[in-house]
Amino acid sequence: MLYQRSSQLFAEAEKVIPGGVNSPVRAFKAVGGTPIFVKSAKGAYLYDEDGNRLVDYINSWGPMILGHAYDPVVNAVIGKAKLGTSFGMPTALETEIAELAVSMVPNIDKIRFVNSGTEACMSAIRLARGYTKRDKIIKFSGCYHGHSDSFLIQAGSGAITFGAPNSPGVTQGTAKDTLLARYNDIQNVADLFEANKNEIAAIIIEPVAGNMGCIPPSEGFLKALRNLCDENGALLIFDEVMTGFRLAKGGAQELFNIKADIVTFGKVIGGGLPVGAFAGRNEIMNYLAPVGPVYQAGTLSGNPLAMAAGLEMLKALNTDTAIFKRLDEKTAYLEKGIREKLTANGIKFTINRVGSMISVHFDEKPVTDLQSASNGDNEYFKKFFHGLLQEGVYIAPSAYETWFITDALTYEDLDFTINAVDKVSKQF
Ligand code: PMP
Repeated sequence: MLYQRSSQLFAEAEKVIPGGVNSPVRAFKAVGGTPIFVKSAKGAYLYDEDGNRLVDYINSWGPMILGHAYDPVVNAVIGKAKLGTSFGMPTALETEIAELAVSMVPNIDKIRFVNSGTEACMSAIRLARGYTKRDKIIKFSGCYHGHSDSFLIQAGSGAITFGAPNSPGVTQGTAKDTLLARYNDIQNVADLFEANKNEIAAIIIEPVAGNMGCIPPSEGFLKALRNLCDENGALLIFDEVMTGFRLAKGGAQELFNIKADIVTFGKVIGGGLPVGAFAGRNEIMNYLAPVGPVYQAGTLSGNPLAMAAGLEMLKALNTDTAIFKRLDEKTAYLEKGIREKLTANGIKFTINRVGSMISVHFDEKPVTDLQSASNGDNEYFKKFFHGLLQEGVYIAPSAYETWFITDALTYEDLDFTINAVDKVSKQF
């Protein structure tokens, strides 16, 4: 496949946009080459500027769970756009989507909508600090919670891909309030609580990590975090920006049967439009302005187009009771196929998967935290990535990312992908 027009467009973009992209993970820095420029997308496929069709395993990094240009979402957005695109005033639609979200997700009474996952996590942390009157937070190395200052300390996703997990510009003062723990290491978390008695406001965690590849929580880990929070008067924040409305209707809280105090959302909740949200029990959420003292705001928050898209998405996920099972089955089929081909072709690998989140690490040892995720063979990943691209299969251009499966994928698409993996792993 040729990607000539994309290369030209990238060269033009680089002149006026830093690195040619508006978010670093889109660049092909980790794998070499130039990013693909998308012209359109429908269902499970991307169509690029060179006229190639690609089977998409990024799906806008998660949101397109029902496929690209899903008709009910597109129609709702068109319909709403004609009635005005932003008012900065309340609309009935905001209450409608809030009611639906609250009915789908366990342990939340109220939800506030923002414009991105970053904003959701940043606001959740401020709320937790205000509510507990404590400053410190615990985050896990390799987890990514958006690019607000408190989180750019050993962050995952693009931050590790580009070797800058600790960004310049984040002050020492901010960094000292973010305590780091190893994912799946409960003793490490217990030690931090011991060393910082009555100072820790919250633990924030991706309940299934998706930003150092996919890493499931080990048996009992989330429950043990819950207990430590309860014993120490800290809040447990589940960053469900990836897992929310994807792993189950009620996200990871439902899947693992663990109560979080605050939950953050992004991706799926906006149906592909810029939406994030954070939610919790009344006593916590009522700490927010205008009822409570913790300030948080947004001119475009609850934007009618975004809310219309999100509502159609959530409605579909709420009514199609088989969807999460179907997604799990499709992803399990893909996992089995990839496993068989890579094994047959003598490649060393580990596949981690939870529901429709899956990733292939090129190392045979278990991948349970950032350290083990970093042992993967990145040189092999580059060849694998470009090999798949030549076959018309698009996975994230970094070994530290998760593949997101969409319900629009057919079993023919999955077989097409498995055959591509076979071909590529025979070649390299
Ligand atoms: N939390 C998690 C778990 C994420 O994966 C991401 C983005 N990939 C974010 C927060 C930040 O979301 P956004 O990019 O919408 O700001």
